[in-house]
Parts: sequence; structure tokens; C-alpha cells
Amino acid sequence: MTEPRYHLTSYGCQMNKLDSELVEARLQQRGYRPAVDEEDADVVLINTCSVRQHAEDRVWSKLGKLRVRKRTEPSLVVGVLGCMAQEHKRYMLSRMPHVDMVVGPSAFGDIDDTIEEARVKNARIAAERAPANTRHEVFGANMLSVDDGVSGDRIRRDVKVRPVKSQAYMSIMRGCNMPCSYCIVPTTRGDEVSRPIATLVDEANRLCDDGVTEITLLGQTVNAYGRDLKGQGADLSKLLRALHEIPALRRLAFITSHPNFLSPDLITAMAELPKVAKFLHLPAQSGSNRVLKAMRRGYTVERYRKRIDQLWAQAPDIELHSDWIVGHPGETEEDFEQTVQFCKEIGFAQSYIFKYSPRPGTLSSEVEDDVPTADKERRNQVLLATQEELSIAKNRALIGSTVEVLVEGQSKVAGRMTGRTAQHRLVHFESDDAGLVGQYVPVRVREALSHSCVGDLLAQDAAEESARDRAAAAGAGSVA
Ligand code: SF4
Repeated sequence: MTEPRYHLTSYGCQMNKLDSELVEARLQQRGYRPAVDEEDADVVLINTCSVRQHAEDRVWSKLGKLRVRKRTEPSLVVGVLGCMAQEHKRYMLSRMPHVDMVVGPSAFGDIDDTIEEARVKNARIAAERAPANTRHEVFGANMLSVDDGVSGDRIRRDVKVRPVKSQAYMSIMRGCNMPCSYCIVPTTRGDEVSRPIATLVDEANRLCDDGVTEITLLGQTVNAYGRDLKGQGADLSKLLRALHEIPALRRLAFITSHPNFLSPDLITAMAELPKVAKFLHLPAQSGSNRVLKAMRRGYTVERYRKRIDQLWAQAPDIELHSDWIVGHPGETEEDFEQTVQFCKEIGFAQSYIFKYSPRPGTLSSEVEDDVPTADKERRNQVLLATQEELSIAKNRALIGSTVEVLVEGQSKVAGRMTGRTAQHRLVHFESDDAGLVGQYVPVRVREALSHSCVGDLLAQDAAEESARDRAAAAGAGSVA
């Protein structure tokens, strides 16, 4: 009998992609094989995100195409996974007969059983969040990686199923307890649930044994990690310190942080631990206190600035990245101007800028969306241009210096390879040596673009010499 083939597409954030990776691992353990082309798959899965309208639109369009295909291939299994499945379950089951499975993010624990049942029995299935009193058990199963005695080894993460050999994501918590007015995550993903430190250290060790040298920890509010692990004294600073001990690990990053949880302990850990990446993704969202209040973000511009001052007092080399929402209900031109000024004042290295769109089920969606589309578009362009100037200035400052790059693969430009620095800056350099992928190489920057740098690959000893020269000149320091 031939093995069933699946094709999985992710629409969403890194956490969504990691979920997809874990679902794939589970399916492969079950004997399924990945289909390179979606047309060859017996099971087509779409892992979805509800945070942005654009991502949702792409999923609805995709489902429209699958409806046509299913007319001629009735045995095809179509599954919608993730946040949209949680959010639009009723609609999909009642109005989209070609969708066979609707599985919310907290019901991935039995995903292989669910898919197998839909395929073999040709049954339509809806799986949703489990009751709150089983949430730790379900979360463990959901992550396919907990060996807590409840779930057992059967669901340990198969660390070998990963798209990139040297890099891995690790979900350390999920859900969110914050009340942000525009965000659907607390509804779709539920309350914060953190995984124990020992479990995470075990998983990181297994990843590193399999060749990983860079781990990115994921959580919707990653620096709120541990709040629900009552009595265990777990927080992100302690987790970073525990993971930092793993000898093969060279870089340790974490996304996405909330300004309210940038604690003194976390700042000290970031300053003291050399393997911790030199960037912090800390969404400000707006530079207007009036808008921040309407967004229910729980901080003011002054508080955000104070936290950053504390961070830079101890760790001045950390670059900041932000998310922004322009055109939130009630945002005036003056509010927006404050956002532009705040973006410039902090000097963010990167920003992700979104035009507000109401998400059904959120608090913001209940108030009038009173900023005209044309104003949202203009503000978006203004903030993008502001960020571009900041980014290119930071990139220009690197010209002539040597940076350490973890090589990720070939660039889109022929004859170039590409990778990232510890500050998450994209760097391209001339080479077609695929053997460099996964290695840390020295690159001297010669050109600055708005979203990346271009440089020349150096011999290792030249880089060490250059680092020694700079350290001697500065009295201390290391390669960036
Ligand atoms: S902190 Fe706010 S924006 Fe981020 S996931 Fe939680 S509710 Fe959404």
C-alpha cells in the first residue's frame, strides 16, 4: 500500500510555522510523506492565523481553489488548522462542505489521529480547545514534546524533522493573558501556559545534539514566560541562563516581548550572557499615550522609554525592533505624529508596520473604525519611510566593520550567500559555496541597503586579527 501524502502550508507567524513543523513530525511518525506539489497530496492542510486580515484573506482564497479541486477529487482531505479554525469553525462546517477538518491550535495533540480518521473514514471533524482544567496536559500534547509523566515519550518532539539544520524555534509558552483591544490571540490561543524549564532544556539539548547552534524561543508574550508556573520560580531570565549552559549552542534569541515584562533580571541576563542575541523585539505599537490607552497596552510612552534606558544602561549594543499599528480607531494626525517622533527618538533598527483592520471578536471591533482608509495608507507609508531611513543609517554605520554571520542559504542574487548577524541583520556576500550553510563566517561590510548589508567573506584568521585590533583600540570588545 502506498503511503499517504500530505501538503501543509502555513499562513502566519513563526509560532504558526513551528506548529506546522511539529504537525509534520507527527504525520511523518505516522507514516505520511510530504508531497512536494500540493496537487500530488492526499491530504491538504492549511495552518492559519487570525491576527491580520491579509493572512485571513489568503486562506479564504485558497479554500475557494480547493473547493474546485475537491469536485473532481472527492477523496481529497482538506484540513484547516490554527486560529482561523478556532474562530470560524461554525461557518466552515456549515458553509464549506469541502473542508473536512477544522482543528483549533489547542487541539493539535491528537492531530495525526484526527487526520487519519478524516482520511480513512472520510469523516468531517471539528476539534477545539480542551477544558481549562486539562490545559497543561493538552498543551504538552500540543507541543508534541513534553515528557512530564502525563503525556509520555510518545509525544516528545522529533527534533530531526526541521527545515534548517543549524537553526530551530522552540515554543516555550503559548496563549496570552493581556487585554490588547485589537488582538484576537487571547481568544484563539487561550490563557498563557508555560512549559517547565527542565523540559525545555532537554529539548534544546536534543536539538543541539542534532546540529542546532541557534535557538529562537517563541511566545506571544515571551518575556511573561513562567507566570503560570506557580511556585517554580521560573522566568525568562532563568530559562536563558539554563539554556546558555549548553556548550554547542552559540546564539539564543526570543520573540515577541511585551514592554511590561522587561524586568531588571531579564535585562541583567541579556547583558551578562554573550550567547543571547543582540536584538530585542519589543513592540511599541504607538507613540501616543492616548492611543496606547485605547489599545489597552498597559504602558505609556514614558514607561517604555524608561525600560529602554535601563536596558541600554547595561547592554548598549542591543538593537530594538518594533511593531506598529497605524490608524487604530480614534488615532488623530497628532497621535500619529507622536508615533513618528517616538520611532525616530528610540531609533529602532527594524519595524513591522500594520494598518489597523478590525478583527471580529475584539474590543476595538466594537468601536467605529473612524480613520479613513486613505489616511491609514498614508500613515503607513510615512512610518515605513521613517523606519527605512533609520535602518539604512544603522546599516551604513557598519560599513568597514567585520560582522559574524550565520549562513542561512543562497541569496536571491546569483553567486551570493546570505545570513544573519547576532543583531538579526541580513548580510549578503559573494560566494556560491553551499557548504557554508550553518557556519559562522566573518564578513566585512562594504555596502548598506535599507533592509540588509552586502560584504566580503573574510578568512577566519583575518577576522580574528581585525577583532583583536578593534578590541585593542576600544580597550575591550568583540566581533558584532
Ligand atoms: S500582548 Fe496584546 S498584542 Fe500581544 S498577543 Fe497578547 S493581546 Fe495580542
